[in-house]
Amino acid sequence: MTQAEKKAVALSPATAKVGFVGIGNMGEPMASHLIKAGWIVQVYDSDTGKTRKFVATHGGGGAASLAELGRHSNVIITMLPDGHVVRQVVLGGTGGAGDCLAKSMAQGTVIIDMSSSSPVGTRALGKELVAPGISLLDAPVSGGVKGAVAGSLAIMIGGDEELAKRFDPLLAPMGRRFYVGSLGSGHAAKVLNNYVSAAGLAAAGEAVIIARRFGIDAQTLINVINASTGRNNSTENKFAQFILNKKFNSGFALGLMAKDLVLAMEVAEACAVPAELGHATLRLWKAAEAEVGGKADHTEIVKHLGDL
Ligand code: NAD
Repeated sequence: MTQAEKKAVALSPATAKVGFVGIGNMGEPMASHLIKAGWIVQVYDSDTGKTRKFVATHGGGGAASLAELGRHSNVIITMLPDGHVVRQVVLGGTGGAGDCLAKSMAQGTVIIDMSSSSPVGTRALGKELVAPGISLLDAPVSGGVKGAVAGSLAIMIGGDEELAKRFDPLLAPMGRRFYVGSLGSGHAAKVLNNYVSAAGLAAAGEAVIIARRFGIDAQTLINVINASTGRNNSTENKFAQFILNKKFNSGFALGLMAKDLVLAMEVAEACAVPAELGHATLRLWKAAEAEVGGKADHTEIVKHLGDL
């Protein structure tokens, strides 16, 4: 079979051994959908308690190390905090030191990075994986924990298009797939989406705080915006659900959103676009991270904006 013919054969549960690294807020429901859809899945998380809990709850196998996972898998999905962690998990520390995937993965295997990683870093990682014969696709997601649990995420795919088609059946149980372009394009689309989302949440937060000072009830303003042209995903799906009731439990950390803004502005700079609003949004979220903490829920940015 030629390389092109191999790429064209769609993957099936009968032919694939799937590894999944990072079973946190998003990874756990995502990997559980693969198991429900009949894929043979082995998971790994540096928090061994999460690995044990996952296997007890959802089935599948748990790997004791990244090297073991690399040896037993022909495709590995990563769902980790950021591209630096992905790089370390794939290639190891300085000079390849420590436990990692690439040393034990066979030629012809594939890594699909579903984390929100640096688009520029993803292109660099893809080049480094050419020598060991490992292919890289980026497939970050949008839709939050709710979308991960429902299997309705938007999945933005970058990399070789034929390879992406071949892996479509594996990604299908997790959500809708959008092929975006060459390697890193999925990651670029994802962080640009989060820039728009972060700016929308902050703008709505400021509007609610101003409205309250003016004597308008917060929920009333949100109801009005949701019936008007200012509505966005945050006014429709975050204010009543996580913010005005002070639950702040969306499952997406403030530090991760600030990280996505850094990456979006990294892409803007690489493309020589000034992105003034983007840089102002990044400064605001960085200040919120310093004040409220990176581990706080991202909806807690309103605490930095003023009194709700
Ligand atoms: P999380 O912190 O809940 O999960 C990350 C997991 O990775 C944790 O279980 C952690 O123990 C594990 N981990 C960290 N370092 C590791 C290592 N070296 N080896 C193995 N495992 C390691 O984060 P999350 O909310 O699930 O987000 C994961 C990614 O998805 C991030 O890039 C985030 O930006 C993105 N994302 C999150 C959301 C959301 O709503 N939470 C939505 C879309 C995209």
